[in-house]
Amino acid sequence: MAFLEIRDLRVVYKLPDSGLEIAALRGVDLDVDRSEVVGLVGESGSGKSTLAHAIMRVLKPPAYLQSGRIYLDGVDILSLEDSIFDKEYRWRKIAFVPQASQNALNPTMRVLDHFLDTARHHGLVDRREVEKRAAELLTATGLDPSRVLGLYPHQLSGGMKQRVLIALSLLLEPLLLILDEPTSALDVVTQAGILKVISDINKKLGITIIFITHDISLIPSIAHKVAVMYAGKIVEVGPTGKVVNEPLHPYVSALISSTPSLYADISAVRPIPGEPPSMAEKITGCPFWPRCPYVKDVCRSEEPALHQIDNRRVACHLWRP
Ligand code: SF4
Repeated sequence: MAFLEIRDLRVVYKLPDSGLEIAALRGVDLDVDRSEVVGLVGESGSGKSTLAHAIMRVLKPPAYLQSGRIYLDGVDILSLEDSIFDKEYRWRKIAFVPQASQNALNPTMRVLDHFLDTARHHGLVDRREVEKRAAELLTATGLDPSRVLGLYPHQLSGGMKQRVLIALSLLLEPLLLILDEPTSALDVVTQAGILKVISDINKKLGITIIFITHDISLIPSIAHKVAVMYAGKIVEVGPTGKVVNEPLHPYVSALISSTPSLYADISAVRPIPGEPPSMAEKITGCPFWPRCPYVKDVCRSEEPALHQIDNRRVACHLWRP
């Protein structure tokens, strides 16, 4: 059994006025091994953040979990009582740094107070112990605690805020850390620094990490495995080198070709034609077929399942075993 197992997870947004249901996750299956870094990639609206919210059990109406299972270390975490999940899992075993959370730091509190407040909230009251741990974690993220602990959020750069948030998320020594777009809105140099911090944390502490991004070019420098999402499902998952260098799914090839790189010729960048499907409408066949250069008749009527092809899984009629 994998450390994190997600099985047939389905999440729907139900609009209160019209009763219209928008499928955000349409049956996600994903395995994450202990101490692995998994890159979760896809265009905006593909379901990446919804998946993170479902794992953290922070889906809010109109989103609701329709069906599926999530096992962490063998425990079915969706079936736990709220109080048990809050006390034993949220932040303690699973930590989450949401998208754009740099602005979530309280502007009236110094960095040290954020650590003390989080610790107090979880029953850790030994101030000296928390200060020591905060200093260790800030050092691990490349910050000087003697300077940073006394600063207010407005005195930190975007990259420093992101490092503080990562350090804060590690305070309770979680087993799984989910980072949602931790490098967006940062310049490339700061991005590289944050990627190094995440990689070092994984190597030093052995923490399992799910790294969510829309930018597949970041994945080779950080993730052991990559899972690519499209229209609420995973369409290809496997070792990073294989998926990024020899993608099997036409959408993954198109995504790579549409991503500018610092090293490749910009004229070689090819935008993906068309638009992703509307999730408010019933999807018939492969959700990528209107944009796919390899579309066959069967693609328009039958949605492909995720099949094992060597050491990866692919959902495409071109790759049936
Ligand atoms: Fe293209 Fe068909 Fe594969 Fe979908 S199933 S990606 S339409 S070839």
